[in-house]
Amino acid sequence: KSDPSWSEVDDYIIQHLIGDDPVLDACLAANAREGLPVIDVSPAQGRMLELLARGVRAQRILEIGTLGGYSAIWLARALPDDGRLVSLELEPAYAAVARSNIKRAGLADKVEIIIGEAVGSLAALQAQDVNRFDFIFVDADKENYATYLDYAVQLSRPGTMLVFDNVVREGGVIDPASPDPKVPGTRELFSLLKNHPRVDATAIQTVGSKKWDGFLLGIVQDD
Ligand code: SAM
Repeated sequence: KSDPSWSEVDDYIIQHLIGDDPVLDACLAANAREGLPVIDVSPAQGRMLELLARGVRAQRILEIGTLGGYSAIWLARALPDDGRLVSLELEPAYAAVARSNIKRAGLADKVEIIIGEAVGSLAALQAQDVNRFDFIFVDADKENYATYLDYAVQLSRPGTMLVFDNVVREGGVIDPASPDPKVPGTRELFSLLKNHPRVDATAIQTVGSKKWDGFLLGIVQDD
């Protein structure tokens, strides 16, 4: 399920609304050199994340799933001078590439990458009683999306924006018998958000250079 015009429209969006970005080009080139999988968000999606984070005036951002730091650079750009992005990554080799990319982008003093299973890192963040996050982007193993929702709510304040990536999976999300092992976790996320006591949510389907997929967006309400 793909159409060449999806990528052509993405190119048009980039030409008109994003433009050249040598820092992000260098990030993607380094990721390719180091053999990282090409599963970063697209430029238009990265820009969307930056705008959403700026829209809620985020000062503290949490990301689950760093890879080479492409989306982290977009998100960190949304932060004020004293803002902070904490990004969680399982693979030490990916985190090393991300740190180098983030340093080249001039954002090293705003970004902390924590290596390890995100569930453990989230439990540690919660135990430390860190300041709540204003914006949380979840883009890691879909099997744990329900657990990530739980931690995301606990690490939020009223008004925190939650964004989960890859929730449509070429339409697989509506198929309870989907052979895609990532679908059950995504479907569990939707089930939990149906009448969730603290999160108002929607999901938006997307097509583009990253094929047919989608984002789930939520806002955390009062306790
Ligand atoms: N957000 C990145 C971007 O757009 O540039 C892409 C992230 S990629 C889709 C998903 C990342 O989550 C991978 O780097 C993977 O190693 C990481 N990941 C997978 N399972 C994880 C886990 N249990 N804990 C932490 N990170 C995990």
